[in-house]
Amino acid sequence: MRTNLKKYPVLFYYFCEKHSQMKKTFTIQELVSLLSCEGQEEEALFHKAQQVKNENVGNLVYLRGLIEISNICVKDCLYCGIRHSNNATTRYSLSDEEVLEAAHFAHVHHFGSIVLQGGERSDHDFTLRITRLLHQIKEQSNGELGITLSLGEQTLEVYRQWREAGAHRYLLRIESSNPHLYKRIHPQNALHSFNVRRHCLNLLRECDYQIGTGVMIGLPFQTLEDLACDLQFLQDIDIDMVGMGPYLEHHNTPLYAVRHLLLSQEERLSLSLRMIALLRLMMPNINIAATTALQAIDPFGREKALQIGANVVMPNITPTSNRSLYALYENKPNTHEGAQETMHALEQSILQSGCHIAYSKWGDSLHFTTRNRNILSPPKD
Ligand code: SAM
Ligand code: SF4
Repeated sequence: MRTNLKKYPVLFYYFCEKHSQMKKTFTIQELVSLLSCEGQEEEALFHKAQQVKNENVGNLVYLRGLIEISNICVKDCLYCGIRHSNNATTRYSLSDEEVLEAAHFAHVHHFGSIVLQGGERSDHDFTLRITRLLHQIKEQSNGELGITLSLGEQTLEVYRQWREAGAHRYLLRIESSNPHLYKRIHPQNALHSFNVRRHCLNLLRECDYQIGTGVMIGLPFQTLEDLACDLQFLQDIDIDMVGMGPYLEHHNTPLYAVRHLLLSQEERLSLSLRMIALLRLMMPNINIAATTALQAIDPFGREKALQIGANVVMPNITPTSNRSLYALYENKPNTHEGAQETMHALEQSILQSGCHIAYSKWGDSLHFTTRNRNILSPPKD
């Protein structure tokens, strides 16, 4: 079906057929207005984003088996349920065997790649253990399994060590690109510095990772201008992959005290979908994840995101006995989707969103591979 953009004034203005090329850059004002669009205008935005996605990255969905290796964290982010000071959480760390078993599960079920995620630690024992695990996972999968890390802020040396041991993608959310808002959602100390987090994204690029970042949507104190700036930030730093989703409250965190400032969860979900659709228009060939937090609000939140711009899903394959302890926010889906019998259900719901799973593929960001190809062979003049 062809959307008649003339019916929708805001979208007609931005995606007018007169534009010979799809518009990819937007002013803050334009983004704010698009982030607030509703009804048929929102439908037209989603339709356009779906079209741009299919034309640029196709309708394939890449799977990353998510292994939540530990909820032990040295940091105290004011929004996070596994923050260091939350004494009500029982702490766990998966054994090497459990991590290797989960990675094996991903490999034999043709997931293509995994993500090792956890609370932040930078002690030597921890960083060395990750290096060892990376070597073991590579060896046990004959190098076939792609590995993404999401283990927070580290030194250049550690990032390099992990890169050399086999990790090739890294997720480090900036959380908010507004340093003032960042300050309001983190403790005021050197361990929670916006500049350090921003600098880490540069270090990761220096080590030649495919880099993913992202933000939380619907944070207390956050404005639509902040979100518009977040979208421009992602474009300005030329990011390869993005994982962004709704902020969700957790009763054992300091931010819970200001929950009266929040949009409803449904509004946060809608805003997240509009953010994903707009980002797809702005960065047509990056990888965008349909995050678990979307699913926490709506059982089909991830499928909705896949329809309108996302192309990556991260099924949780953490051993089920530990899943409930990795509670970043309330009502985190404690699904069994990694389990064999529910893979079929996931496949069906992805099919219903008009997409197909790309089994056994690393699913690297086309944006990353294209940029690297251009750097390796600069255009002849
Ligand atoms: N510790 C690492 C880090 O912070 O980069 C990786 C794990 S951390 C749990 C992964 C992401 O969870 C964070 O970047 C943050 O955006 C998200 N998160 C934490 N608490 C959240 C909440 N209450 N609502 C939504 N997302 C949350
Ligand atoms: Fe730790 Fe990451 Fe949670 Fe911050 S968001 S408290 S670094 S696990």
